[in-house]
Amino acid sequence: MTLAYVGLGANLGDPRRQLRAALDEINDLPKTRMTASSSLYRSAPLDHVDQPDFLNAVAQIDTDLAPEALLDQLQEIENRHGRARPFPGAPRTLDLDLLLYGDATIASARLTAPHPRMHERAFVLRPLLELDPKISIPGKGKANALLPACGSQKIERID
Ligand code: AMP
Repeated sequence: MTLAYVGLGANLGDPRRQLRAALDEINDLPKTRMTASSSLYRSAPLDHVDQPDFLNAVAQIDTDLAPEALLDQLQEIENRHGRARPFPGAPRTLDLDLLLYGDATIASARLTAPHPRMHERAFVLRPLLELDPKISIPGKGKANALLPACGSQKIERID
C-alpha cells in the first residue's frame, strides 16, 4: 500500500456538496481506502481572479493502485461531476489533483508527482499540514517551511 494525497477544489455549482460527494467516491475507489480528510477551506482564486472563491480540501488515502491508474480513477470522478476544461485556470465544478504518491518522484507524459505547483499553494499546504504537520514534499522540503511564502494568498478554514 502507498500513502497518497489528493487535492480537491470546486468553485461552481454547489462546491460543498461536490467536495463531500467526491470524498465519498475517493473512499469507494478500488484497492483504496481513505485514511483521513481535511477540513474544508475557502480560498480566493490565484489567477483569473474574476471568478467565485474555491472550496478546497485534501484527502489522505492508502492505495494499491499504480500512480497512473489512480489518476485515471480521479479523472473519472471529475468527469462524472461534469468537469469541463475551457481554458487553464477556468472555474470548475470539481478538480482533483494527485498531490503526492508516497515519496515517489514521477515525470511521465500524463502525471507529474509531486504535483508541480502544490508547494506554492496555501490551499494545498494548509489542509495537508492539518493531516500531517511534519509532512515533506519530495524535492521541496517541509510543508510548514513552505507555507510562509504563501502568506499573501487569502484562505480560511470553514469546517
Ligand atoms: P487540470 O486540468 O489542471 O486538472 O490538469 C489535468 C491534466 O494534468 C491532465 O492532463 C493530467 O494528465 C495532468 N497532470 C499531470 N500531473 C498531474 C497530477 N499530479 N494530478 C493531476 N493531473 C495531473
